[in-house]
Amino acid sequence: DGASDAQLSAIDGIAKEFDLTVEKLSEIIKHFCNEMDKGLSKNGMTVPMIPSFVTGIPTGNEVGTFLALDLGGTNLRICEISFEGKGAIKIKQQKHKVTENLKAGPSHQLFDFIADCVDKFLSEYTEFVTVQPGVHDRKLKLGFTFSFPVEQTAINKGTLIKWTKGFTCPDAENKDVVFMLQEAMKRKNVPVIVTALVNDTVGTLLSHSYKDPNTLIGIIYGTGTNGAYFEDIPKIKKINFSDDSQKKMIVNIEWGAFDSEKKVLPLTMFDNKLDRESNNPHYQIFEKMISGMYLGEITRNILLHLIDRMLLFDGYSSKDLNRHYSFETEYLSTIEADETQTLDDTKKILEELLNIPSTTLIDRQIVKRACQMVGLRAARLSSASLAAILIHCDKVECGSSVGIDGSLFEFYPHFSARIKKALQELFGANADKIKISLARDGSGVGAALAAMLAAQK
Ligand code: ADP
Repeated sequence: DGASDAQLSAIDGIAKEFDLTVEKLSEIIKHFCNEMDKGLSKNGMTVPMIPSFVTGIPTGNEVGTFLALDLGGTNLRICEISFEGKGAIKIKQQKHKVTENLKAGPSHQLFDFIADCVDKFLSEYTEFVTVQPGVHDRKLKLGFTFSFPVEQTAINKGTLIKWTKGFTCPDAENKDVVFMLQEAMKRKNVPVIVTALVNDTVGTLLSHSYKDPNTLIGIIYGTGTNGAYFEDIPKIKKINFSDDSQKKMIVNIEWGAFDSEKKVLPLTMFDNKLDRESNNPHYQIFEKMISGMYLGEITRNILLHLIDRMLLFDGYSSKDLNRHYSFETEYLSTIEADETQTLDDTKKILEELLNIPSTTLIDRQIVKRACQMVGLRAARLSSASLAAILIHCDKVECGSSVGIDGSLFEFYPHFSARIKKALQELFGANADKIKISLARDGSGVGAALAAMLAAQK
C-alpha cells in the first residue's frame, strides 16, 4: 500500500515550504550583500563583520615553528606546528578536557589551567626549543584560537564580550583575553608570548590559504556556522588602519546572525517553534536553519506535527522523541544515507534509539523525506552566503577556493554536492571555478600562521 492522500498532501505541503528556488536564493543573496556592506561601514550591525587585524596572506613558503591553543568548547587543544615550506606542515597536539568547575570558576583558575597544560606540553612534546637560562627573548610565539564573541582591537588584543557554550567565569567578560592568558603564563613561568588572537573561521581560512593561495573564504559548518574572508582594507570603512603596506585583512562575518529581523529568510512554523523554545530566541536565525546543533530539532518538529495530525506512526510518539533535541543531526546523516530497500537503518533509529513503538515502511519514507527537506534547505542556504561573498569580492568570473571545517560538512551526505549544485544554478559554468574543500582541524594551524604573520611585522 502507498501513502494515503492525507499523508501525501501534508508532506508535499511541508516540502513546498522548505523549497528554496533560485529566485528566492537570489533575493537572500542580495540582502546578504547589503548586510555585509552595512557591517563594514558601522559597528553594531546585524551582521557584525568583525575585523580580525590579521593582514597578509600566507604564501605557503613560510617556515618556522609556532604554538597554537584552541579554546572554544569541550576540549582545550594545544599544538606545536612546524611549517616546512611548499605548503607542508607537521603537527603535534595534546587535548585536555575543560571541567565544568573551570568553566564556571574565577577566570584566573581557567587561565592557570591553560598555562599548566602548555607547560606540560612543552616538557613532554617539544624538541625544538630549550630556553637557555639567562636568555629571555627566546620565547615561543603562540596563536590563540578563542571561539567566543570578542571585540578585537589589534591582532593580539581583544575583549570578551560574552561567554557562550556553557562557559560562565564571572570576572572575565569585558577583559582582554590575551592579557589574561599572558599573565597566567608569567605566573607559571612558561616561556611563551601570545602574539595572535583569532576566531576559528579566521584560523580555517589561514590554514587553507597556506595550502592553496587562491583561497578567499573559510567556513565552519559544525555546532554553529560562520565564515571569514579576505577583504580589501579600504572597504572596511569603520576602521582607520594606518599601515599602508598591507592591502588585505581577514574579516570575521559572524553570519549566524544574518537576517535576525526575519526579512528574507523563508522561516516555517517548524523554525519558529525552534527559535521560540531556544535559549536565545530572535538571535542567530540563519545559524538555526543551517548548523549541526539545530537540523535534528527542526526535523523533530516536523515529525511531531505529523504525529499530532495522525499522519505518522499511527499517531504515537515516544517519551524520547518528545524530548527537545532528542533527534540528533547525526540521525539525519544516517537516514539520508540509508539506501536499504526497507529503510532498515532508519527503522533502527526510530524504534531502537527513539523507542517509537512500531513504524511502517511508509512512515520511514516520510521521515526520510523530512530529513531530505531540512538537509537540502541547509545546504542551499549555505550556498547563499558563499555566493554573496563571491559577488561582494567580484570573484564570480575568476573563481576562488573555499576551505570548510566542521562535522556537518564532513559527514552529512551530499552537503557539499548540494552546495555545488545551487552554485551552478546561480552562476552557471562559472560555478566550476569555485573550489570547495574540507579543511579539517584548520583552526590550530591557522592560529599558528596568525602568530607567524604577526611576528613578521
Ligand atoms: P564544533 O563545531 O563544536 O567545534 P563539530 O565540527 O564536530 O564541532 O560539530 C559538531 C556538530 O556536528 C554537532 O552539532 C553535531 O550534531 C554535528 N554532527 C556530528 N556528527 C555528525 C554527522 N555524522 N552528521 C551530521 N552532523 C553531525
